Amino acid sequence: MTQQTQGSRLEIQGVQKNFGDFTALKSIDLTIEPGELVCFLGPSGCGKTTLLRIIAGLEQQSAGQLFQGSDDISLKPPKDRDFGIVFQSYALFPNMTVCDNIAYGLRSIGMGKTQIKARVSELLELIGLSDHAKKYPAQLSGGQQQRVALARALAPSPGLLLLDEPLSALDAKVRHHLRSEIRNLQKKLGVTTILVTHDQEEALAMADRVVVMNNGVIEQVGTPLEIYQQPKSAFVAEFIGAMNFIDSAPLNGQRVKVGNRELELVRPMPEVQDSVRLAIRPEDVHLMPVGDGDWEGRVEAMDYLGAFIRTQIRLSDVELDLVVDVDPRSARQLDLVVGRSICLHLPSDALHCFAA
Ligand code: ATP
Repeated sequence: MTQQTQGSRLEIQGVQKNFGDFTALKSIDLTIEPGELVCFLGPSGCGKTTLLRIIAGLEQQSAGQLFQGSDDISLKPPKDRDFGIVFQSYALFPNMTVCDNIAYGLRSIGMGKTQIKARVSELLELIGLSDHAKKYPAQLSGGQQQRVALARALAPSPGLLLLDEPLSALDAKVRHHLRSEIRNLQKKLGVTTILVTHDQEEALAMADRVVVMNNGVIEQVGTPLEIYQQPKSAFVAEFIGAMNFIDSAPLNGQRVKVGNRELELVRPMPEVQDSVRLAIRPEDVHLMPVGDGDWEGRVEAMDYLGAFIRTQIRLSDVELDLVVDVDPRSARQLDLVVGRSICLHLPSDALHCFAA
């Protein structure tokens, strides 16, 4: 019988971190609900690891408070906090068997021998390594070692599981497999989980909510769908998925000018600006036969990527290249080849608009 953990609620209030003159985190407010899997996602240096280390007590915040449930953990050392952690490098004890690695944390909390044995075999079963209990870390693959690290972190049934880029040292196939394994295990156990990653695909695939960070601030918090479909800033739009940007000038109302054309927007425009950036996803641009669409262009390049063809279209009357994803069937119907003239339609409801 799998032990269901009571996942913690975590509340981060006004957390700031300075390293000398450098501010790595500006003022972070974030609440994570019990049982949630939240990803901290952002480019290198945005502060995601620093925030995770502050949550673990491995780094002391310069200002702000942290609450795990009703417990103020702001000043508690790591040993007095209730979390398990997995790092990118497996960090298993090389001279201990798989069994002993998993049991390690349980001995230190004073659990009895019989109970430890039961808990370890339960975890071995959960991670699918029951047959490897007596092996040493060096006798396991990278993916297996990372599963053991996960089991070791989960052994004392912590309220919070912290994962610091746990999959980035693994090859693509193992990584994809472990993604869903971790996600399933996390849901089964109900442990509140924070995963730090710079891999947007990993964040979108695994998270209940994604926290997009940039330069020490949170740019947006939302479900993967919200982050992808309703990015709040040009940074989020560009960082998650592919995006075309088009510089334009706002006119009155919901209209903008691109070259000598006017476009009507459906989505909200930013506060009054001299210029704005329109954005549209490659899969949202429609290609059609010459004469049918609003814009004319020429196919500059075509990359066959399996499920779709990524094309580059140079527009004729504005100086602009657009990336457009076309499914192979439409490409055949349009007889799409490099050098061919083509028309495009930019659906109003697919156009995002950001401050320039
Ligand atoms: P990465 O994906 O590269 O690990 P990150 O988003 O996790 O990036 P952090 O490791 O949190 O980024 O670092 C945030 C910023 O703080 C970086 O500019 C980093 O150089 C700086 N920083 C982190 N730790 C220290 C430290 N101990 N002393 C000084 N600066 C630090």
